[in-house]
Parts: sequence; structure tokens; C-alpha cells
Amino acid sequence: MAEPHFERVCLIGLGLIGSSLARALKRGGLVGEIVGTARTPETRAKALELGFIDRVEGDAAAAARDADLIILAAPVGANAALAEAIGPALKPGAIVTDVGSVKQAVIDAVAPHLPEGVHLVPAHPVAGTEESGPEAGFAELFEGRWCILTPPAGTDADAVARIKAMWRAVGSNVDEMEPRHHDMVLAITSHLPHLIAYTIVGTATELENTLQQEVIKFAAGGFRDFTRIAASDPVMWRDIFLANKDAVLEMLGRFDEDLTALQRAIRYGDGPALEDWFTRTRAVRRSIIKAGQA
Ligand code: NAP
Repeated sequence: MAEPHFERVCLIGLGLIGSSLARALKRGGLVGEIVGTARTPETRAKALELGFIDRVEGDAAAAARDADLIILAAPVGANAALAEAIGPALKPGAIVTDVGSVKQAVIDAVAPHLPEGVHLVPAHPVAGTEESGPEAGFAELFEGRWCILTPPAGTDADAVARIKAMWRAVGSNVDEMEPRHHDMVLAITSHLPHLIAYTIVGTATELENTLQQEVIKFAAGGFRDFTRIAASDPVMWRDIFLANKDAVLEMLGRFDEDLTALQRAIRYGDGPALEDWFTRTRAVRRSIIKAGQA
């Protein structure tokens, strides 16, 4: 059995995901010490006050020095600069992991900056809320949720086993995927739904004033659920779309074709086509409930 315990952990990014993981690691007695860092002094001070890190550093290299495990938990667009900054400070045998929602781009951004003997084990916990910041985190976030590991070919097997053991110890189910495959799967299950929500809510804000007020008043008709998703962090989602461009554009193309087909069915009064489509989608919801992921 691989060892899920790490003596010195460096956590870069102290928001929803980073702080949730830190809380879960501490609760499980899985760490000796967590040294944290974030972009702003406010977040660093808040994290220390909340107590999910033991020590804070103003810069990433200082936080990463002598760490056994480095967790990148900032928006994915920040990773290249962060990896470049911490690279020279990393000790041989250290494991660098991340929590980014996109995987191939993270590998491309981080791997070139890591010295020989440092292991990169990318991971994506498929868990979250639309909240952000250090106060939004909670230790139970990952329980019963999937964490997908995408180690590049040839990654040290022991390092992969330890990151797997860590995610299992905080309650996640763990799977492994090829990074580009992960990006394609997440483009349809997560990134496109967010894009659609951002679009619908954006469209509503463009409506003339009286219509807009009625949208807010009668939001319970379905719009409300989109507003929840469209309230997700703007910087994080900007980075996800830029980093997963190809997979998102591929899925958007397919979505567009299907939307046109439904548009045609409505225009020509093709009830059976609509009913058939909605019956198939209802079955998808039922399988998600059955899989315990609802
Ligand atoms: P968040 O709550 O907005 O937190 C982001 C953290 O990163 C903040 O502490 C921020 O510090 C810090 N940060 C930003 N730029 C930085 C930089 N250049 N150097 C150091 N720290 C920096 O975001 P989150 O929801 O935890 O997301 C973090 C990562 O998890 C993202 O890569 C995202 O793709 C991934 N993820 C998110 C979800 C989700 O549902 N939210 C789910 C799975 C994975 P300041 O507060 O000082 O700006």
C-alpha cells in the first residue's frame, strides 16, 4: 500500500479547492505541515487565520523549498509562471501535483520547468461549487466524488500510487486517464455546460429592461439553475476555455449541429422527434442518479 502521508506540503492557491484539500488532509492526519501561498496578502492572511495552513510565504519558491509534495491550486493560466518560479527550489524526489480542470495544458505548462528527479502527477478532483476563496472550502468536498489522475507516460509509479492514496484518503474515487481524453470528456460534461450557462444568462442581461425584470422574478422556471453555474469564478473559467480550446470547440461544433436539428423539429412541428430526444435525455439523468453522482 502506498503512503498517503506527506511530511511537508506546499499549497499554492488557497481558494475553494486548495483550502478544501488542505482541510481534508489535516482532518485525516495526512500531513506534517502545510506551507501556503496565494497571489494577494489578504488571501494569505485569511488562510492562516482560518487555520488550514500552518505557515504562509509571500512567494511560491519560498513555499516550495524542501516540500515533499507541491500542490498547484491556482487558476490553470497561472501554472507556467508558478512552475518556472518553483522549479529551482524543488528537492529531488518531490512530487508536484495539481487540481486543474484541464490536463494536457497543465502538463505542457509545468513539465518543462521541473528538474530531473521531480515527479509530476497531474490530478483533477471532479468536485466543486460555484463559490471561491479560502472561506468557501470544506473538508468533505471530495467525498464520494471522482478524482482523475493523468500522469504522462513514464511517470514514476510510486509517485502516482502516493497521489492516488492521498485522494482515496480524503474520500475520493480515483480513476486514471490519458490527458487529452480527460480534456475531451470534461469539455462535454463540464466546460460546455458552463459556456451554455454563461451564454443564456448573458443573453438575458441584454434584454430590454421590463423583460429583464420578469426574468429575475420568474427565474424558477429553469433559468435559476443556469444563473448558479454562470456565477462561477470568471478568472478560473476564462483560463479553462483558453487552455482547453480544441476540445471545447470540437464539442461546441457537435452541440451546434444538435441544436440546429432541434430548432428544425420545432419549426416544422416535428413532435415525435422532440419527444424521442427528450426521452433519451431523461434516461441519462436516471443513470447519473443510479451512479450516485447526482
Ligand atoms: P479560487 O477559489 O478562485 O482560488 C484560487 C486561488 O489561487 C486563490 O487563493 C488565488 O489567490 C490563487 N492564485 C491566483 N493566481 C495566483 C498566482 N499567480 N499565484 C499564486 N496563487 C494564485 O479557485 P478554485 O475554485 O479553488 O480553483 C483552483 C483550481 O482548481 C483551478 O485550476 C480550477 O481549474 C480547479 N478546479 C476548480 C473546481 C471548482 O469547481 N471551483 C473544481 C475542480 C478543479 P488570491 O485569492 O490571492 O487571488
